[in-house]
Amino acid sequence: MANVGYYLGFGTLFSVGLLELTNINNVQNIISYYGVKKYLEAWYHTSINSVLFGPIVYQIVSDNFLDNRKHSNVSITVNIGFIFLIHSWGYYYVHGLMHTKYLWSIHRFHHTYSNYVTPVVAMAVSPFEYILAYMLPFVVASWALRPSHLELLIGAGVISFCNLLIHSPSFDYLSEKIPNWWISPEKHLTHHKRSDKSHLSAPTIDIDYLMHQKNLFFTYNGVDTNNDTNRIRGT
Ligand SMILES: [Zn+2]
Ligand SMILES: [Zn+2]
Repeated sequence: MANVGYYLGFGTLFSVGLLELTNINNVQNIISYYGVKKYLEAWYHTSINSVLFGPIVYQIVSDNFLDNRKHSNVSITVNIGFIFLIHSWGYYYVHGLMHTKYLWSIHRFHHTYSNYVTPVVAMAVSPFEYILAYMLPFVVASWALRPSHLELLIGAGVISFCNLLIHSPSFDYLSEKIPNWWISPEKHLTHHKRSDKSHLSAPTIDIDYLMHQKNLFFTYNGVDTNNDTNRIRGT
């Protein structure tokens, strides 16, 4: 079977091109603020990551972890859902590590696009970041789930497209319609502006939100009832 990673990679590049056209103002802002070289650098990294590193990892996953048998519709739905979940957790965890002094050096380049962001910035990441934060969660999900080609293709395709959307200011107006447990352009564009540990999740399920809800569940009137001291006080 032909390496589906190339279809995904070239499909992503084509989508980036179309979405850039809806963000022409911000393209001009990037060029006048950071310089044309910086804008072309984003295209360079996006191209290398999409059509070189991506297909290589896809081939490795395909050869080792994909299940060639036909899956039922229920299994297809469940596996795609778990690909989103595992990828979101994996990215959230690695992204948190990249915002520490140990791995900031591999993530810094992505954050050099802070005030002005367009879809081409979505994959403008260093090779180390691409492998560790973008690809490794897919490898882990495929190892754990043994998905079919179709399930991985849909999972990776949707995740890749959502990654472009959250780097697209032209779709920011949709943010208020997006449910809290999903990543909106507003959340990720805020992360670029702040460059801190807020809104670490991307690009699908909002793990920050789910963690916050879990913490609320274990608190009562703002008091952590799991905390031993509070339990002794009877609060
Ligand atoms: Zn980003
Ligand atoms: Zn970051």
